[in-house]
Amino acid sequence: MTLLQQEFPSDAEFVGQLGLPNTETYRSYNQLVGTIDVFLISTRDHFIVVFEPDSPPEKCRNQTVEVANHIFQKIDTKFAELGLTDIQFDLTYVHEILEIVVSNISEHNLHLNNTYKFDLLPKFQALIMIHVINYATEFFSRRIKVPCKPQTDDYKTTAWCYFKNIARGETEDVIACGFFNAAVVKVIEEQVSELLPMEAQGSVQGILSHGKQTLIKRILIDLAEKEDFMQYKAFIRDPYTFAEKWILELTNRKMFEEHTDDVSLYAQLAKKQVSQILNELGNIVIKATDDRNAGMSSWVETFVTQNNECNTLALSKDIFVHVENRNVTNLQTFSHALTEEIEEMRRRLFSIYEHDTAVSVQWITNPVSEILDKLWGCLDLCVFCKEPCMMTSKDHVMEGKLHECVQHRPLGIGGYRKSASEKMVVDFCSHKVSGDQKYKHNNESWLYKEYKENFPDWEIPPSSDTSKYWIWVMCKFQNELAEMYNMKIPDTEDIPEHWTSYTKQIAIDSL
Ligand SMILES: [Zn+2]
Ligand SMILES: [Zn+2]
Repeated sequence: MTLLQQEFPSDAEFVGQLGLPNTETYRSYNQLVGTIDVFLISTRDHFIVVFEPDSPPEKCRNQTVEVANHIFQKIDTKFAELGLTDIQFDLTYVHEILEIVVSNISEHNLHLNNTYKFDLLPKFQALIMIHVINYATEFFSRRIKVPCKPQTDDYKTTAWCYFKNIARGETEDVIACGFFNAAVVKVIEEQVSELLPMEAQGSVQGILSHGKQTLIKRILIDLAEKEDFMQYKAFIRDPYTFAEKWILELTNRKMFEEHTDDVSLYAQLAKKQVSQILNELGNIVIKATDDRNAGMSSWVETFVTQNNECNTLALSKDIFVHVENRNVTNLQTFSHALTEEIEEMRRRLFSIYEHDTAVSVQWITNPVSEILDKLWGCLDLCVFCKEPCMMTSKDHVMEGKLHECVQHRPLGIGGYRKSASEKMVVDFCSHKVSGDQKYKHNNESWLYKEYKENFPDWEIPPSSDTSKYWIWVMCKFQNELAEMYNMKIPDTEDIPEHWTSYTKQIAIDSL
């Protein structure tokens, strides 16, 4: 290990270069030999000529690639020994592989067994290490038998973490903290993502608590203000789905457009959850670190048990498999390091939620569907005009109450046309049911007033009331409605004269 712990000239530079490997590139390699191109070698940073100062730098540059390939050959052999079948991940592989790099470069620089005229510089070692780490991460991710079944990508991050920390010469404490962080952050993120839809729901509860009719009214006002027939069409066809989408959009607007001190409501709610969980974790870390714990494994055991007694965050001992294996000797030091790591976790989680937007957010569960389902109740629409049934119980017919509407609409809104002229019917269904006119159903003619012959579960009381709102919609969008149902617009004389005088404001105010 001492060999691995030698300092790199610039940690920052080294870490800066060490991102998760480009899977495409590294997956395409079958072996390490031949994967470093001479153009990657810098005549200034990677080696220095120490014998025969007039040796041509280009020659030395080519020779550094030879040295790299010689190292790679040894690592390829090591990988070949591991075989192509599933292997259990073993930390010794990581150590052995990195040690091959470090010891070979040191040996080269002693020039006892070579005649090269140059020394290899720490930046060359960093270059080779990064390359080997990336290759090895890909190699292990593909072949590893994973102890606690995370996804390959999770595993890849874990393997990469290992290599990176060891290559950087981190202490066992720091490495253990890194694994603790990786294991727990994921669980917290899952839990917060599950809680957020409920929090979001709370923020629009006001609209939902006033019931189906209030919700429909809000939607109708919004539709009138937008004057977009495509939206009317969607609402007329399937008001429930439209309402669900409408509330979700409203929720997203509220969550992401309402800011306090530049922080969206969504991020605030997420941060509140994250902080509650992490504060509790911090307390448990301190509580779990007492003299009775002899080693890491026992510490993890105590930590998980105490944590799960709190019911803040459910953790399985399995996720700490990499923490448990660390050779941490002083648990007090580890506990201090972990307390600092928790702050790092807080920053990382905060930043995840701060970057979410109404577009990027992926709700684990639709924050409104369940509550809307209860609030909306009956999904039926008036058989003539498509007005939603006002009942908020799904089983109201079974309970002895018939489908009924708060208001009705001109029949043309529901697609009714005159059979001969194919012109849309402008009259209201609640009006028709008192006369002697007929409608078509199953290719037969039936009297409106005997609608119960076909629709026994419906109650459409005869009424001369008319909805100014739907009259306005019909007059304004008669061309679009005609196109929607493939019918003709009504004759002007069919439309009562005062109907055309209704303005949008009158329509909205009538609701
Ligand atoms: Zn109706
Ligand atoms: Zn109903």
